[in-house]
Formats: sequence, C-alpha cells, structure tokens
Amino acid sequence: MARNPRYDVLFEPVRIGPKTAPNRFFQVPHASGMTNAAPHVRAAFRGMKAEGGWGVVCTGACSIHESSDDSPFPFASLWDEADVRAHAVMTEAVHRHGALAGVELWHGGAAAVNRTTRMAPLSPSGVPWMATHVGFMSSARPRVMDAGDIRELIRWHAEAAVRAERAGFDILYVYAGMGYLPYQFLMSEYNHRTDAYGGTVRNRVRLVEELIDATREATHGRCAVALRISLQELRARASDIAETEGHEVIGHLKDAPDLFDVKMDYSATDCAASRYTPEGSHEPVVDFVKRCTDKPVVGVGRFTSPDTMVSMVRRGVLDFIGGARPSIADPFLPQKIATGREEEIRECIGCNICISSWHDGVWVRCTQNPTAGEEWRRGWHPEIVRKDAEGQVLVVGGGPAGMEAALTLARRGYRVALAEAAREFGGRLRFESALPGLKAWNRVAEYRLGRLRQMENVALYPESPLSADDVLGFGADHVVVATGAHWQPVLCNPNELPGARLDAPRVYTPDDLAAGVTVEGPVAVFDYDNYYMGSAVAEALSAQGHAVTYITTAGAAAAWGFMTNEQPLVHQSFANRGIGYRTLEVVTGFDGETLSLAQIFSGAPAQIAARSLVIVGMRQGGSALYDALAARDPAETRLRSLHLTGDANAPGAIAHAVYQGHRTARELGLPAAAIQIGRDAPFALRDLPAAEAAE
Ligand code: ADP
Ligand code: SF4
Repeated sequence: MARNPRYDVLFEPVRIGPKTAPNRFFQVPHASGMTNAAPHVRAAFRGMKAEGGWGVVCTGACSIHESSDDSPFPFASLWDEADVRAHAVMTEAVHRHGALAGVELWHGGAAAVNRTTRMAPLSPSGVPWMATHVGFMSSARPRVMDAGDIRELIRWHAEAAVRAERAGFDILYVYAGMGYLPYQFLMSEYNHRTDAYGGTVRNRVRLVEELIDATREATHGRCAVALRISLQELRARASDIAETEGHEVIGHLKDAPDLFDVKMDYSATDCAASRYTPEGSHEPVVDFVKRCTDKPVVGVGRFTSPDTMVSMVRRGVLDFIGGARPSIADPFLPQKIATGREEEIRECIGCNICISSWHDGVWVRCTQNPTAGEEWRRGWHPEIVRKDAEGQVLVVGGGPAGMEAALTLARRGYRVALAEAAREFGGRLRFESALPGLKAWNRVAEYRLGRLRQMENVALYPESPLSADDVLGFGADHVVVATGAHWQPVLCNPNELPGARLDAPRVYTPDDLAAGVTVEGPVAVFDYDNYYMGSAVAEALSAQGHAVTYITTAGAAAAWGFMTNEQPLVHQSFANRGIGYRTLEVVTGFDGETLSLAQIFSGAPAQIAARSLVIVGMRQGGSALYDALAARDPAETRLRSLHLTGDANAPGAIAHAVYQGHRTARELGLPAAAIQIGRDAPFALRDLPAAEAAE
C-alpha cells in the first residue's frame, strides 16, 4: 500500500554531523537486559528494529570503564577487544538494513556502586546517589574525584570511543542524564567543587564539553557525537543569565555535539507508565532545546501515533522521533507507516513490563510483542510466521492468550475458530482496561481483534460458552483452551501464604467487581498480590465515592510497582484521592462490620470499620473444560492435539498470557525436534587471536 503523503516528512533523511540518518525514526538508547554475555541475542533484537525501518538504532548504557559497574543490573561494556567483538555483531545486524548504529557510552559515577569490580565509586564531591529501592540500595559511598581522576575519565571515554568506532558504531554518545556521572557534575547538589569544574553553570558544564571534544578528537571527526541530557531539574531552576539553568546549559553546549538527545531525570518520569502519564509527556520540559541550537534534536514520549510524530516535527519540537518502548512493542512501526498500514501498528500500552525485565536482570519482555528477546533464541520474527500448517483449530477463550494464539495460528495457515463466552472479546481486559488509567491497555485486545477480523481463515464466535461436548461437536483438529484464571477470596498468613476461604458477608475479589457486584462502603482492599490490581481497584472504588482503606502485607502500596515505575505515582494518586493505606499488615478476620488486622512482624493487632472487603491476593488457574476434554479417550474424540494456555495454565501478568498464547501457537503441531532453542555465549579475550586481543 502507498504511504499517506501526510507522513512523508517522517521519511526525510537528516544529517547528524558526519553521518546521515535515512529517516527520522530513532531508536534511542534503552535498556534491553542484553549484556555482552548474549551478543547474538542482542544483535537480533536491535537488528530487528533496523529491519523494521528505524533509521538509527542504539545500544543501552554501555560502560566505558570498570569503575562504572552497575551489577546486578544487566549492563553492556566496552572495556576490551572481546567487547568490541560482541558489539560488532550488533552493528553488522543494524547496518545490514541501512540504519545507523549508536552507542550510549556511559559512566555511572556515584550511581554505579561497582558491586562486582569493587572499585570505589566516583563522584564530583562525594555526594551519594541515594537509592530507596531494595536492589539499588548500597552502603558504598563514592569518593571525590581529583583533577587527575577527571583527566583519567576523559581518557577512558576517548579510548572507549576508539573501541566503539572499531566495533562499527556511527554515533557515539556522551551521557549526561539520569543521575550518572556527567549529570552529577551538572547538578549543584552533587557538585560542590571549587575548581574549574564546579560553582557556576559555565564550570559545571565543562566536563560534558570536554567529554564531547575528546570523543570527537579520538575518532578524528569520523563518528557523530551525541549528547544525551536530562533537563527536568535543570529547566526547573532559575538562572541569572538565561531563562532557566536548562537554557543556560544548552546555550553553552549548543555547538558542541552533533545531536541532542533530550530526556527527563528519573525513571518514573522519563519512562512513565501510561497509567498516570499520557503520550508526549516530555514536551513541556524539552521543547525549548531546538530554539537554542541548530543541531538536530531527538526526544521520546511513547509516540505511537504518526500524526503526533508529524506534529512534533512540524511544530519544531523534535527533528527525530525517538522511540524506546514503541520500538520494542513494534519494531516494524516505521515500515508500517511507510507502507500505509498504520492501523497494523502494535501500539505500546505503557505498562512498563519491559522496564521490569531490566530490574529483574533479564532480557527485555514486552506485553504487546511476545517475540521481543526471542528473535535469536527461538528464531521468532515479530511479523513473519512460517506458513506451514493446515487443518482447523478451535481456540476457547477470547482473552489476551486466546486472541494471541488465534492470531498466530491463523498466520501459520490454520483455519481458526475463536469462541468467547462473553459478548465482547478481551477477557480480563474487559474489566481491567476500564480501571482508572488503564484504558491504553486495551490496545492488547484492539490490535489482535483488528487483525483477526481481517483474516479470511478466522471465524469469531462471541457469546459462545462452550462445554466439552460443544467443543468435540465442533470437530476441529486441534483445541486450545485459554479460559483464564480466577481471583480467590482467601486471606494469607504473615508470610503471604494463602490460607482458607474467608466466609463472611460482602467479601469480594476483582472477579466480583468485574461481574458488576454493588459494593457497600466503607471498603477495605487487602492486597497481597502487590502488582497493579489492588491499587487500581482501590482507585476505582474511591472514584465511585466510597471511603477506601488499602491494606498490604508489603512495605508500600503496589510494592511490585517499583519494577514498572508505577509505585511512586500510586502513592501520589492515593494522596490525591484521599485513599488511606496501611502497610506491613495482614487481615486476620472480617465479620461484615469490623476488619481485624495484625502487624506481620510483631503480630500487634488492630481493627478498622468496613462494610465490604475486597481481597486481591491469589489467582487460581486450571480449567474444568480442559480437564473434561483431557479425560476423554483420544480415539473417540479424534482430537489431534489439546492445549491449555494463558492464565488458565499459569496465572500471571498480561505479558505472560500473551507469551504463552504465542508460544502455544508457534509450536502447535510441530515435532519436539523442530523446536530449537539457541544458547548464546560471550566472546572472551582469551579466545581472540593474540594480535586482536592485544589491541
Ligand atoms: P488469559 O489472560 O489467559 O487470556 P482471560 O481471563 O483474560 O485469560 O480470558 C479468558 C476468557 O475465556 C474470558 O473472556 C472468559 O469469558 C472466556 N471463557 C472462559 N470459559 C469459557 C468457555 N467455556 N467457553 C468460552 N469462553 C470461555
Ligand atoms: Fe510498551 Fe508494555 Fe511492551 Fe514496554 S512492555 S514496550 S510498556 S507494551
């Protein structure tokens, strides 16, 4: 199909110093969890985006020296020739599709506490980067850099730049954002120096300027040099000589880099969950940069709408449309716009499961794109599924797992029938996407239903609750059961082990709320699931006008939500809505009027008044339908295969359900030998030819 001329501007080439990007789609550096230990996994992940039309594809943070060690978080490095080898696999994959490859050269300073290398963290003035989350916390405090340390840092950066060019990178970043070392020099609360690198803004900018110059000189101007800078705090600070400190900093640096990559300062605002933050949220912070410099500017904002992208360029906010999450959810977003298939874009839902993967220390996982991270390991392509199948599959259950299974099976060539008991498809999303802030999550259903409705080999059957006899009567060759899981009205002990069902009036689970039960207030919500559901239900009940108290076994509301950057915003939302919360407590009893609680460590009892209790704790999978089908004699049923998938198989986040549905569909009907799983391995210095290793 032809491209809509309205979007032509997005496909213009743009110069970045000595290099030219083929279009305005720029995959900015973002964490992938893919360290140098998995070079082929990483290359396939990044290369897929180049194949999908992103004109620039970058690495995530890449340490320039062993004094910047982010372990246990999965970071990349460019410390030696083995690392050069590892990155070269990626740059080759990116160049193969005509894109430029960028590397985010990174020194974490006080924010990288060097748990593995055990070097003293570096900092401008000994001010620590105080983490509040388990996993980030450390008792190591940084040392103060002297003039020699600053010279060393610049030398390390220059040497890493030389290695980066040798690895094939076109764009080399200086990274002055998100609490890392050059950012610490920019910020007055980290930088108390009295030498040429501290004090005035002019002095605080000096290190960044020198890093840019050293990077350019080291590669003799052959590579483009980008500056990535966080502007949220700087823009909020008054300056004597400019509109804000942000304006002053950009003013000093306006001619220094070949490209500005502009962003926020904190993970929760930079990579904000859609639950509380809309598309394009960076604009009020970064929109001034283009007015201060002639260099091209890239920025992000979870852009998935081509009209918004065009508006960013036309209004002079950005030159490049930066994408991290949108490029994970749909590596082929640019190509779909280029070929007039905008409605086929698999739009990011802003759930931040991808970020949680990095916090978990594993390769990126995505709710919308189950192939993310599996391009090399399982050989999954997000757009191409080998058409190798014939016969008919009946998929029972039209939730995320069932819809994903149906779509992938149909792409493989099966004739697919998708049966759903309810009038609407969507499964758990019917309720969950109606909770406060979760509307964008319905894109999981919209994308899949949109595709399924256009496929000739798919028949959709809403309002079709199927029994085992119905299923067998249908006569399909294969059956996939994706009937979901159910929340249980059970309390738990202080170790969060679920106990017995609570038998009392007005005890509900999210399933009861989804079924439309009328709740009497005041309401208590007891959350030991610790992801979004408990807090979202509390918000929904509060929005209905109920007085709500949220109780959790954890130390904070939506405790696991720190993995997805939601947790701080949940607390802000509770404060705004007047939702009371109690932490580190279990519910020990409820009689319809009074809720009994106990502190999980001391056992200290407490009581609060409540007319209703909503328990958000355990979900139970399993399927009576599957069990009934499995119990039948295969000779009688003539079913060639029967599968249980999604939450019915193992309850989890929507990402787990989609992944399970996808995998079931990819593997259905294949012999075990046809299912190959690759195991990647790092390059090691000792395995390189002596001459190369010595470089
Ligand atoms: P998942 O996340 O695994 O996709 P969901 O709970 O979101 O699971 O979706 C399961 C869907 O299956 C629900 O929409 C439910 O109405 C549907 N369902 C459950 N049992 C049957 C059945 N016997 N026949 C048809 N649909 C069913
Ligand atoms: Fe977007 Fe969620 Fe996928 Fe991340 S995991 S890219 S936020 S859909």
